[in-house]
Parts: sequence; C-alpha cells; structure tokens
Amino acid sequence: MKRIYLDHSATTPVDEEVLQKMLPYFTGKFGNANSMHGFGQEGAYAVDESRRKIASLIGAKPNEIYFTSGGTEADNWAIKGMALKMREKGNHVITSSIEHAAIMSSCAQIAKEYGFEITYLPVDGNGLVRPEDLRAAITDKTVLVSIMLANNEIGTIQPIKELAEIAHEKGIYFHTDAVQAVGSIPVSVTDLGVDLMSFSAHKFYGPKGVGVLYIHGGVKPTKLMTGGHQERTMRGGTTNVPGVVGMAAALEKAVNNLDENYVYIKKLRDKFVERVINEIPYAIYNGDKEKRLPQNANFAFEFIEGESILMSLDLAGIACSSGSACSSGSLEPSHVLLATGLPIEKAHGSIRFSFGRDNTEEEVDYVVDKLKEIVCKLRAMSPLFCEIKGETKNV
Ligand SMILES: *Cc1c(COP(=O)(O)O)cnc(C)c1O
Repeated sequence: MKRIYLDHSATTPVDEEVLQKMLPYFTGKFGNANSMHGFGQEGAYAVDESRRKIASLIGAKPNEIYFTSGGTEADNWAIKGMALKMREKGNHVITSSIEHAAIMSSCAQIAKEYGFEITYLPVDGNGLVRPEDLRAAITDKTVLVSIMLANNEIGTIQPIKELAEIAHEKGIYFHTDAVQAVGSIPVSVTDLGVDLMSFSAHKFYGPKGVGVLYIHGGVKPTKLMTGGHQERTMRGGTTNVPGVVGMAAALEKAVNNLDENYVYIKKLRDKFVERVINEIPYAIYNGDKEKRLPQNANFAFEFIEGESILMSLDLAGIACSSGSACSSGSLEPSHVLLATGLPIEKAHGSIRFSFGRDNTEEEVDYVVDKLKEIVCKLRAMSPLFCEIKGETKNV
C-alpha cells in the first residue's frame, strides 16, 4: 500500500546527505570529544565546526550554543534553570496557554516544588498572544517570560520580537521555544532579541536526540545536567558527536533551501486547505490564516471524533495527528484548541496535517479524496450529525 506522511511536525526523516555526514562519527571517528588524544580531537574538531555553523545560521555566537538531548531538555533547562537562578529576585513566570508539554510541565513543576506563580497568557481566537496581555501580566516579581515562536498544533507564529521588547523594558529575561520554527521560517536570535531559544534537529530532517539551547552571552541559568566539563561546564554528559554533526548539516541544508521549500510546502498546504474548505462541509480551519507555519493545516471536522478519522486515515496509509504526538494516547482534547475558544466537542474532532518537502500535489489530492470519504462515512454513523442533517442541504 502507498503510504503518505503528513506528520512532519511530529518528526521528519533524516536527510540522506545528513546521514552520510554523520556516519563516520559512529565508527572510525568515534572518539570522545573531551579526550586529549587524536581520536578525541577529531570529534572535538567536528563539534567546534558544527557549533560555529549553527551559531552563524541563527545569528548567534558559537559560545552561545549549548547542545542538549533535544527540544524537551532545552525547554526544561530554560524554564527551571532561569527560575532557580532568579529565585532571590522573584517567583513569577509568564508563559502562554498554548505551549508544548515540555514548557507546560516545567512550569507546573517549578510551581509545585519551588512555589513559583505562573501566569498562562490567553490567546485570541486565531491562537495569537496579545502583547498588551503580556504587559499587563508583568509584576515586580516576574523573572522570566517564555512564549513559543510557532505553535506545534496550529502553526501560529507569535510576535516574539515585540513580546521580548516588552519583557526587556522591565529587565525580564525572555525565552522562546522555536522547535517548530527553526528550519521552516527565517529565525535569527539577534532579530528576535531573545535571551534564550530552544530548537531540535529532528524537526528539520536531522537526527532525533539532539537539540540546542541558545543562551545569550552573560545569561547564566542554573545547570540542569551536572557532570563533566562539557559545554563550557554548563551541561555535563559525553557529547553526541554524530548527532551534533547531523544537526549542523541538517540546519545548513534547511536554511540554504529555506525560500524554495517554504514556497513549495506552502503551495501544497494551501491547495489542501482550499480543497478541504470547498469540498468538506462543517470543517473549521483552526489558527490564524496568515501568521502560521507553511507546513501546518489543522481542521476540526464537526460531529465526529478526531481519533476515528486518524485511525481510518492510517488504514488508508495516511499518517497525520490529532493534537500533538505527545498527548495522543490521552483522550484529553487539545489545550491549544481549547485556548483558542474552540468548544470541547469541536476540539475532539480536530486533526493536524503537517506537510514536508517530499510530499507531492498528487498526494494532496489523494488525501483529500480519502478524507472526504472517511468524514462522510463517520458522519453517517454519528447521531449528532443525523440530528442536524434533516435541516441542512448539500451535506
Ligand atoms: C517537538 C517539540 C518539542 C520537543 O522537542 P524534542 O526534541 O522532541 O524533545 C518542544 N517544543 C515544540 C514546539 C515541539 O514541536
């Protein structure tokens, strides 16, 4: 059976060229980058090169790049490390109500275990944080603001530059989770003006298990991972040399081809959205129409369950997601969609389609055709839908 992957926001395959660049560091050049001998120096040299490359691709300095085990660790470090560091100054952290679980759970933990107060900023109906809400939420106890650059479920892009300026006017540190954005849209820490930024290789055709926390020079979060002297003593643990090499190669390729990929992927997404809106009744397109990632389309199909659509699509060889991959398995409706004001029953019928550079227009057509069939079949079995059907034409 033909298989179609539309879940690039969950993860992407490793690019073949990236893999080739990584392979030598698993075998011949396997040295520990902290060892003094030649084997180690080979690894250390590759890590230095990768660090320089990644820094220049996001507008940072090499010594502001800290390698981690991925986006989750980078987010945990930013929140817990900064909160603990600033504890003497204040115990208030501001984030948004649509963050990834890595941010949400880190905030919950500092609240529970260290008595922090957390403000979860609301979003408007399109999934955007209002700068005036941030301004109003700041108190003299606020020590950190963390707001994601692009949302993983509905793809909305927040006005980070403006939000960071508001925090900085009050001398408050600003972190952004840019895991979904880096590699898909232009991202520069100097343009954004953030103090800390998380991103992860496997979201841009690099390997899983490696990410970066960018930490602006002079900012010093408490260490999360203590151990050896790696990452300028800030993050212990033997360096993942193949992972770091792969991350740099993948980011370089993503940034070099960014415009071309952006246009191509957005065209596929726009075609998909247009067909769904025109051909499937009672489909709600979630999230801001303009300020969103090119790869993301999130729809609520009224009167049916997202999980049922997902399973039927999977049987047809089509992979997508309901809510985020991290919360599937739970039947909780998406906190992101609820935050945009979508009623609970509609949030339950939501599906995320995330496109990638290997998808084709033929695939888009095939998916819409299948989706139409599936939605129609499921609705025919839905008591909710039968109730309204008598009164509605063209269904
Ligand atoms: C995927 C993702 C993460 C987690 O990154 P991992 O590298 O998978 O740990 C964090 N934040 C967002 C917005 C994500 O999409």
